[in-house]
Amino acid sequence: MSPSIVLLVLYPLISLGATDLFYSLWPKKRPPVSSLAARAQTEAEKGATARLGALISLFIYGSLMCGTVLWQLFFSVGLDKVGFSSNKRLTSALIGGYLGISWAGASIWLLVLGAATGRMRREIRGLMAPLKVQIAVWLMGALAEETWRVMAIAALVTSRNSPLFSVVAVGVAFGIGFLNLGLQRAAAASLEGVFFGFLFLWQGSFLAPFTAHLGVQAVYLWGVGEWSQDPRSRKTWQIPGTKCPVCQANLKLLQIKLSEVFACPSCKEPLSLSDGYQNLMRFSGAFSFCSLNLCTLVLLTSWLPGDLGAWLTFPVSYGLATSGLFLYQRAFTRLFPPRLQRGAPYFITLNLEGRHKSKSGNGEDHDSN
Ligand SMILES: [Zn+2]
Repeated sequence: MSPSIVLLVLYPLISLGATDLFYSLWPKKRPPVSSLAARAQTEAEKGATARLGALISLFIYGSLMCGTVLWQLFFSVGLDKVGFSSNKRLTSALIGGYLGISWAGASIWLLVLGAATGRMRREIRGLMAPLKVQIAVWLMGALAEETWRVMAIAALVTSRNSPLFSVVAVGVAFGIGFLNLGLQRAAAASLEGVFFGFLFLWQGSFLAPFTAHLGVQAVYLWGVGEWSQDPRSRKTWQIPGTKCPVCQANLKLLQIKLSEVFACPSCKEPLSLSDGYQNLMRFSGAFSFCSLNLCTLVLLTSWLPGDLGAWLTFPVSYGLATSGLFLYQRAFTRLFPPRLQRGAPYFITLNLEGRHKSKSGNGEDHDSN
């Protein structure tokens, strides 16, 4: 048996078997069955489940990394083939991140399609865990999986397989690791594996699939994941600075509704995002979208031969826009604390203001209008 096959089956073995291995090593960590399914979990139990999930993910990535390093010790592949010593690091990293975020957007559509036709779901590793743990899972995941992928492709190419076959074989092996989540999820993962593999072949550097992986996971972890969970259990951060314009109380981001009128938790006055702030958010959103489209057109036509770049501009910017939709509002409101105004936006504010004034100014006259 060729040593490259050993590396190829390493991923599905670890991905499918590591959870059981984890519980057999630490049986006390296994949650009782009743607490997961039968009744609604309390906040503390949800936190514990999230931490356990993150711990298992880290265990999987750790095992994968160890396995890959051990394989490298026994059947060494020349590291120059893997591109750790590439001289165009920054470009590869940027291209990878850029296309990764676009791919994440495209895969959201794939997920929507899968959810509509079957019961496809995508697990998001590290979801709901504290931010520090999320970052650890995020970095370790990209490092371990992409190191494995790049080594496996290099090993297959070295043992005289064609690059195309190697990328597809590694993609399929990656997909098999997701078989426990259903056939559709496995197919989608294979496709994603092939995408990462091609990035490596094209750029000849580990950094391209690595930053692409970081981009994809960032969109899912901090965009889609936050979207799909119960708003009360979201973990969030922001630069402080949002005050109620009436009573000057400091408001947390989760107490603010971005798209509707809400009552101030301390003085109960109706509040909404200020018109100026909303306009700024819309304007900078539209501006970033247009410049992203333009950048995509320029970059793709210069990277790819012939008309291919122009053809790909539309799907790539569509993917970017989808990812952007999930990340933009969230990132914007965290970086720039929302400004609030009393009442509803636009003319309704004037109306309320007028009625308020006439009431306080002349008590007897209020039923004349
Ligand atoms: Zn208030």
